[in-house]
Amino acid sequence: MTMTTNMTARMLSTTRVVGLACRRFGWDAIAAAAAPLVRTRAYVDGRWLDAQDDFAVVDPGAAARTEIARVADCGPEEAKQAVDAAHQAFRRWKDVTAKERGAVLRKWAHLMEQHKEDLARIITFESGKPMKESLGEVSYSASFLDWFSEEARRVYGDVVPSPSKDRKILLLKQPVGVASFITPWNFPSAMITRKAGAALAAGCTVVVKPAEDTPLSALALAELSCQAGVPPGVFNVVPCSRERAPSVGRVLCTDPLVAKISFTGSTATGKVLLKMAADTVKKVSMELGGHAPFIVFDSADVDEAVRGAMASKFRNSGQTCVCSNRFLVQSSVYDAFLAKLGAAMDRELKLGHGGEPDTTQGPLINDRAADKVVGQVEDALSRGARLLRGGGRLGSSFVAPTLLADVSPDMLCMREETFGPLVPVVRFATEGEALAIANSSRTGLAGYFYSADMSQIWRVAEALEVGMVGVNEGLLSAAEGSFGGVKESGLGLEGSKYGVDEYLHVKYVCMGGLAG
Ligand code: NAP
Repeated sequence: MTMTTNMTARMLSTTRVVGLACRRFGWDAIAAAAAPLVRTRAYVDGRWLDAQDDFAVVDPGAAARTEIARVADCGPEEAKQAVDAAHQAFRRWKDVTAKERGAVLRKWAHLMEQHKEDLARIITFESGKPMKESLGEVSYSASFLDWFSEEARRVYGDVVPSPSKDRKILLLKQPVGVASFITPWNFPSAMITRKAGAALAAGCTVVVKPAEDTPLSALALAELSCQAGVPPGVFNVVPCSRERAPSVGRVLCTDPLVAKISFTGSTATGKVLLKMAADTVKKVSMELGGHAPFIVFDSADVDEAVRGAMASKFRNSGQTCVCSNRFLVQSSVYDAFLAKLGAAMDRELKLGHGGEPDTTQGPLINDRAADKVVGQVEDALSRGARLLRGGGRLGSSFVAPTLLADVSPDMLCMREETFGPLVPVVRFATEGEALAIANSSRTGLAGYFYSADMSQIWRVAEALEVGMVGVNEGLLSAAEGSFGGVKESGLGLEGSKYGVDEYLHVKYVCMGGLAG
């Protein structure tokens, strides 16, 4: 441990840190400029409601984790009130024409683009994400409302050739009813619209419980939904503290008026919610954790692979579910990849407050998250990995971008999701060996590989046990593509033409007694 700490201190002395003390804009100025969007009360049935208590939202990028707002701490009563409001609103919303529902979603998306800067600042200050990425998240988030505004009109049923002359077979698609969402802090806006766009397009109504760390983005979305003309009760937000999450979650997963639960977060929490949803046999979507492999084969363009690795690993300081976690590099390009990736990390990564324009790496969301990454690094070093960059904390929840060589599959960082800026690199000899390591995980969300061999590209894309594959590409999310995992990464799909199906059931109508 001491040796590791000394080594870490030496490595950290070369890491560039910017803006920890000299942010370009402070929260007070943002709160004033974006006042109509900075909401701190629950949004239920089109009204802003207080709860009996409140909880603090902090800026994880500030040295002392400064409190930026106090938000209504909803409990089971408020959650039930929101479910009841959503249930009432469903009766009307399902009968609004698909064309009108689409128009409302489109207006909501436009409003998001119009308020892009303010929404991005809110994301940056509550999650620590660098401003450039927060702006990207707002566009990504709005893209789901836009995409599903068009999909609303494409919810077609079927008329199926009947086996009898006197019968017609119709398959109708109908909205399931009230959908509850429980969402994480790492994409505090997009993880809500990716669900809400599909649900509202289908004719469902919604209750959202956002993460304790990032309720402000969810409430800003509620404000814009109201301005866009989403009727009262159709989109409700009940923020709550971590302490109250289980009791609020229980209402959202067990109330008989809730037809569907859609969750994004860790696999461990997903399993708890799935069990609760089972009692009333709800429809479920689970977008859970990942542990993405990133494979570089001999034939790869190493410069391109390094570019992809930088994008895939360091977005949101490594806190994305599709983030590359396990880097597998074939022997002949192993040394070149390590050297080039290390150089790119030195050149491109700057730690700092997300509000500082040069920052590319913000803090991790909290101390627990930073402890986890440092624990994985220490475990790897104690088992023989080589530290090439970074390796430790830089005060509060900042973790230095870290590069480890000579990693082996038994190390902790290869067995559990990191959710931080750590690149562990394993050397492999054959394609079979790489696939065996890649597929050894219990989760299967995303996977990436770099190769110039067309036969290998087809083989590996098909063989990887994941829901999404990046081939010579490190970033793959888009509203048009499907998002979802296999194995313990979840159930169901978001985005794409399939996303809306998660909020529909198919009703078979058999029309008989027809004259032949
Ligand atoms: P988390 O701890 O599972 O929390 C996610 C949400 O669940 C938060 O709103 C949290 O509330 C709530 N929650 C936790 N325990 C609960 C309970 N017993 N009942 C009801 N709600 C409960 O996950 P996280 O650490 O925030 O997010 C990181 C994880 O999410 C990673 O594993 C990542 O891979 C995954 N993720 C997956 C996707 C995907 O699309 N597949 C996307 C993003 C993230 P509190 O905030 O109050 O704890």
